[in-house]
Amino acid sequence: MENTLGKSLRELRCLYDIARITGSTHITLQERLLEIVSIIPKALQYPEIAFASISVNGNNFKTENYCETDLTLAADILVRGAKAGSVVVGYARPPAASPDGLFSKEERLLLDAIAERLGAITEHRQAEEALQESEAKFYLAFNASPDIMAISKMADGEFAEVNESFTSFTGYSKAELIGHTAGELMLLPFKEDSEKIRQALEEKGRVRVEEVRLRKKSGGIYPVLFSAEPLTIGGEKYLLTTSTDISEQRQSQELVQTISDVSPLGIYILQDDRLKFTNPRFQKITGYSQRELADRELLSLVAAEDSDIVKSSTAFTLQAQSPYPCEYRILSKNGQIKWVMQTVSPIRYEGKTGILGNLMDITERKYLERKVIEYEELSKMKSDLLATVSHKLRTPLTTIKGYSTMILDYYERLGTEETREYLRSIDASTDRLTKLVDNLLDTSRMEAGLLKLEKAPASVTRLIQAVAAEASARSGQHHIITRLPRRLPIINIDAKRIWQVLDNLIDNAVKFSPPGTEITMTADKARDAIVIRVIDNGPGINAGELAHIFERMYRIEQKVYTGTDGIGLGLYICQKLVEGHGGRIWAESTPGKGSIFAFTLPVTGTGKNRQTPARTPETSGGKAR
Ligand code: ADP
Repeated sequence: MENTLGKSLRELRCLYDIARITGSTHITLQERLLEIVSIIPKALQYPEIAFASISVNGNNFKTENYCETDLTLAADILVRGAKAGSVVVGYARPPAASPDGLFSKEERLLLDAIAERLGAITEHRQAEEALQESEAKFYLAFNASPDIMAISKMADGEFAEVNESFTSFTGYSKAELIGHTAGELMLLPFKEDSEKIRQALEEKGRVRVEEVRLRKKSGGIYPVLFSAEPLTIGGEKYLLTTSTDISEQRQSQELVQTISDVSPLGIYILQDDRLKFTNPRFQKITGYSQRELADRELLSLVAAEDSDIVKSSTAFTLQAQSPYPCEYRILSKNGQIKWVMQTVSPIRYEGKTGILGNLMDITERKYLERKVIEYEELSKMKSDLLATVSHKLRTPLTTIKGYSTMILDYYERLGTEETREYLRSIDASTDRLTKLVDNLLDTSRMEAGLLKLEKAPASVTRLIQAVAAEASARSGQHHIITRLPRRLPIINIDAKRIWQVLDNLIDNAVKFSPPGTEITMTADKARDAIVIRVIDNGPGINAGELAHIFERMYRIEQKVYTGTDGIGLGLYICQKLVEGHGGRIWAESTPGKGSIFAFTLPVTGTGKNRQTPARTPETSGGKAR
């Protein structure tokens, strides 16, 4: 009995001691296991020769007398169901007497109980360590965070902890903050901000990234992105708040915004060929609103003939990484063409690569450039004209001067016929001179926009008949024929000017066709117009020249018809006069066979579209010059 009692007492003491060691605070797991290993042998039947060892998670703890023998008993230490080690008891040598065997049943149960206890201690300790580690990590992150962080009590809002970013941002020390509320320190000066936070907490229990304004100790107010998450520490509810200072970001955004708003350059950002951003100047140049431009293809604004230049200059710049400015035309919303000069560069925008384009409106510059070119052309033309005109004036003047001197010097000796011949030459040269001067005057009047048409109802039939009669009288060497329909409407024209057109065409036909050939004038009624034709049997005009003969001062004479006078203004004047009447003039020709010069005169607005009376109109009474 005494023996049994003694054994139970030893076991109880051992378990009690283990419980005491487990419960004692401020000692490490190692110290605990070392102490436990030293008391285990005392619970065995022969404590004086007993030893013990504990190995757990790679750490071994042994009593001093530990030795390798076969006289051992072991039990596994399980942590969360898995073997984490073992506890072993043993005897250094066989005990003198062991009536219950080397280890009694109770001793086996005791060792199992110890192993279980050790498993629990290890498990608990591991959980504690993990917690401590995560707490340490949290505090490290909390303190080192660049975000402005605080932990405040949910109940009264008092700050329990703030990080370094919080103190350095607000300018308040930890002491000034802890134990106080944001309200007391007026950290949120705007009611709508605190209201926004309060409402989110009430509705969702947290705040997710709201922009609010924080007031620093110095009084300055700065924008931040604010979040708050609930947190329980030691059974008490707290709020972990995080704010990110976005004042610099906001400032640079505002700077970029201002630059883009006031820039004299049109700015755009392109992604996948579509406009993702445009500034007010770009909108002004194109005439479209921001909304109309959003997601639109840039090339849809570019004049079709320039789209290749835009594509290739963009590709080149991006490849060569050096700006390659290009000039192109934009079709603005109201149909105007705007010239722009642009440079592009690669950019990242909203997380994606894109192209940043800058363009300058150079419409004005282009206009001036064109004016300069026109001016240069004009002055060249003027000097050409001067040279031609002086040359052309000289020929008839020489004739006039020559014959008049002859008449004056030899008046007595000249016969009547000779004198008449000389006077005829003087008369013809004077006519040529007059025509030249008239053509020059008409051209300059037309170019100054000063030529006025005085329209009145007139008969084309009679006009043609009169021109033909006069031309026949003038040039006896050609047969001038008219082919006119019986009825033609009266139309509203400046008869003097149409006379001039017909006269010019007949003159050319006479000038360029061989003597004895026919020159025919016809008139026909087309849909809304009368078509008048002057047909000759002259040398004709080849297709290449046909396209140019109506141009100002264009002549073929140098190449083909040397000796004819004229300065290439006749057809140019005819064209302007016909167009002034709302008509059209053109030439058709088969080289070697002859030419047809045709023009239309619209039939409108006389209110007298009746048959031509058989009288000659007043306007055809003389040479319309
Ligand atoms: P010009 O006063 O020098 O004749 P125009 O303007 O009247 O100038 O004519 C321009 C050119 O067109 C002429 O130089 C001539 O070469 C050609 N041309 C005009 N009419 C005829 C025609 N009936 N037959 C052939 N060539 C012509």
